[in-house]
Amino acid sequence: MAQRQFDEVAAELQLSDNVTKILRWPLREFHVQIPVQMDDGTMQVFRGYRVQHNDARGPCKGGIRFHPDETIDTVRALATWMTWKCAVADIPLGGGKGGVIVDPATLTDSEKQRLCRGWIDQMWRNIGPRLDIPAPDVGTTARMMGWMMDQYTKLIGEFTPGVITGKPVGGGGSKGRTEATGYGVIITVREALKRLAIDPTECTASIHGFGNVAQYAARTFIELLGGKVVAVSCWDRHDRTSYTYAHADGLDPVYLQSITDIYGTIDKTKARAAGISVEDGDAWLSKDVDLLIPAAIEASITKGNVERISPQVKLIAEGANGPCTPDADAYFIEKKITVIPDFLCNAGGVIVSYFESVQNDMNYYWELEEVLTKLDQKLTNAFESVWEMASRRDVYTRNAAYMVAIDRVVQGMSLRGWF
Ligand code: NAD
Repeated sequence: MAQRQFDEVAAELQLSDNVTKILRWPLREFHVQIPVQMDDGTMQVFRGYRVQHNDARGPCKGGIRFHPDETIDTVRALATWMTWKCAVADIPLGGGKGGVIVDPATLTDSEKQRLCRGWIDQMWRNIGPRLDIPAPDVGTTARMMGWMMDQYTKLIGEFTPGVITGKPVGGGGSKGRTEATGYGVIITVREALKRLAIDPTECTASIHGFGNVAQYAARTFIELLGGKVVAVSCWDRHDRTSYTYAHADGLDPVYLQSITDIYGTIDKTKARAAGISVEDGDAWLSKDVDLLIPAAIEASITKGNVERISPQVKLIAEGANGPCTPDADAYFIEKKITVIPDFLCNAGGVIVSYFESVQNDMNYYWELEEVLTKLDQKLTNAFESVWEMASRRDVYTRNAAYMVAIDRVVQGMSLRGWF
């Protein structure tokens, strides 16, 4: 998918064969074996990867996933998307991603710690604040990033918090990282509504998911823009199905957060008691709202359900990664629904990760307001570049975002004399 999307835009931009060749594949890949002593005294060997797709604009940046189905191809695609995300956000970083084939739920805390340290033992020569800066992702946490940073620091003999981001606040993390992605989603929504001449205080939204991204998107939409959130949908871990929580007069996301567990499951008994209606999991999609924010999982709007979207919907903000399939895109183009593509819409997280490593390098930490103001500037500029490209070349916003990103990376390579 990553290569197919790139090919389409590369053809439109008429990139040369050599430039295309270098951007279709990662610059570097590391395949490592990580021996870990288990608590019962036995040894287990885990397979890990780090892929550095492109570093023309700066050190590579991207998470490390611990997942039983991890493959080198997944890591390659995710590293490629990180290159485009950092470029569209115009932060001086390239794209990277890492992974280990493991189900972290099967490990004890001490085994997890030895695996994290083992990954660094294999990779420390090839990562660093000026080389490649990992972060948490699926299956990895802030605490694990703390262990990894500690191991790197021990190996190079110098306190180096900037080698990894997503660390806990107080342990080298940045204020604002928790809310960054959801907050950023709404900055891009604000900019889109301005261009569409829609008053946000008259605007209603329905959201898929109620985890980290969705919770802060819901809160920011109300607190910053004065909009109304009428529905959120989430997975219920206990019933193993999804439900939509709705209220025509608007939901209070701060109250909902207080009855949501750390996995993003809302307590439906308490929700009902508060007068919130609990509906079918798919109901969020067909609400009569102006704005949809898919912020749960990939492929949530597909050929099979896209026609259920209300004719009132004017804007879709992709908080999740890859929530709309190409068939859904075709429908949005036909119906003239504006889409804020994922790697622009959810770039707030990587922008504040970048701020975290900047603060680490300076050994000086910003207040929350400073972080959010700088985030706002970066995302507003990013949105403007994509909107301007879409208007100038008369292309779909997703392709425009690719064009902005690819243009910047190509320019970075050219300025360094790579071709
Ligand atoms: P999360 O685990 O905190 O929350 C996920 C939410 O989605 C939960 O409320 C869960 O109940 C819900 N969900 C899962 N499956 C569902 C289903 N089938 N139907 C309805 N709801 C379902 O995750 P998150 O950090 O909020 O991330 C959400 C998306 O945003 C992911 O695609 C992630 O890759 C992307 N993203 C996250 C960040 C970040 O900083 N957290 C940054 C960029 C992109």
